[in-house]
Amino acid sequence: MRNFDAVVLGSGGAGLMCALVAAKRGKTVVVLDHAAKPGGKLIISGGGRCNFTNREVSSENFVSENEHFAKSALSRYTPEDFIALVESHGIAYHERKHGQLFCDASAQQIIDMLVKSAREAGAEILQKHKVLSAVRSVEGYLVATDQGEFSGKSLIVATGGLSFPKFGATPIGYDIAKQFGLKITPRVPALDGFVFSAEDRARLEGFSGIALDAVMTTNGVVFQENLLFTHAGFSGPVALQASLHWNPGDEVRINFVPGLSREELMEWFSSRKGNKLEIKNQMAELVPKRLAERFCELYLPETLDMGNFPKVQLAAFCEKLQDWCFLPHGTVGYGKAEVTRGGVDTAELSSKTMEAKKAPGLHFIGEVVDVTGWLGGFNYQWAWASGKACGEAL
Ligand SMILES: Cc1cc2nc3c(=O)[nH]c(=O)nc-3n(C[C@H](O)[C@H](O)[C@H](O)COP(=O)(O)OP(=O)(O)OC[C@H]3O[C@@H](n4cnc5c(N)ncnc54)[C@H](O)[C@@H]3O)c2cc1C
Repeated sequence: MRNFDAVVLGSGGAGLMCALVAAKRGKTVVVLDHAAKPGGKLIISGGGRCNFTNREVSSENFVSENEHFAKSALSRYTPEDFIALVESHGIAYHERKHGQLFCDASAQQIIDMLVKSAREAGAEILQKHKVLSAVRSVEGYLVATDQGEFSGKSLIVATGGLSFPKFGATPIGYDIAKQFGLKITPRVPALDGFVFSAEDRARLEGFSGIALDAVMTTNGVVFQENLLFTHAGFSGPVALQASLHWNPGDEVRINFVPGLSREELMEWFSSRKGNKLEIKNQMAELVPKRLAERFCELYLPETLDMGNFPKVQLAAFCEKLQDWCFLPHGTVGYGKAEVTRGGVDTAELSSKTMEAKKAPGLHFIGEVVDVTGWLGGFNYQWAWASGKACGEAL
């Protein structure tokens, strides 16, 4: 059996950052991960280019039962800190809308940077080591893997969430937390978009592939971004963002014409003349043609004469276009979710060190904690910040 100051479970973004920081401080560190290669989900992140942070990060960009918990770590490791690290390794990057930063070439550059820096600082990173259990020992914690045992004064759990099981996600982090008596908040797949009810699926048949800029509102949270109709529901950035804030039974409202106020939309129609076919064709100025066709089919009378269309009926039609309401059957699920919302209850952890109050020396960092970021590089900023806070405290 080998002894270390710190045994880190998981070589994803959080685990690697923690190992790098602790090793630089002279700690002996081993990182254990069952995947063949280090990096966790980094390689598939941001469409392969890793949206590694966001220019503007605040605790408001995260969902947690305690909205204040992330503030301490986020303020001590900022996007500028990670950008400086990326630049010092000569990694070219670019900014997309809403302050999102991506590698120009590949997410592999971020993995290489973290792995190389951690190894240079003295950390050992061992892949193909499946963690089976962790128990208290005289020295601290004893970890059993399918490749032997490891002992650490501290145990850092950075095993991520439940999404993308084909990329190595397991519930081991939650199991360890429960074993040490820590509470877990309810966990659900998030940043995954919506699935239609059977009724909506029938009424929206043939919409798959339509994409447009839209505003989506659920639970009082409003996002404007690209919306994509799939054969089964809604995807695209706006649906992913909204799914993070959605709970079963919540309505979702969509404005398909966000560029015009309700009055402007009413005026747009009032200034038109023609029958249903003519109006449908003109509506292609407002929304994609197929959406216009289906909305006209569903909500306009066959005998439409726009010049004589009662104002109250026009108002109802405009409301459908700008405040279309649906009740999702659910979100898409862990197979496609970018994150797991919920996790180790932050009330159990120190916001300064990520250490469990009930189990000295046991730390939880990254996605396994009940801190879930919006789409846009926030989840990695949390992985870096929580990993740094922990690495500094070991
Ligand atoms: C498709 C996709 C794209 C994404 N894109 C972005 C993006 O661009 N920007 C962003 O900010 N966020 C993105 N995310 C979210 C982000 O990837 C996660 O929030 C982040 O990876 C969490 O880091 P982590 O280190 O906590 O966990 P992970 O990266 O999940 O790492 C956990 C590690 O633990 C290991 N592990 C699990 N169980 C065991 C076990 N029993 N034994 C040994 N090892 C184990 C896993 O193999 C894995 O390597 C994306 C997620 C997905 C799924």
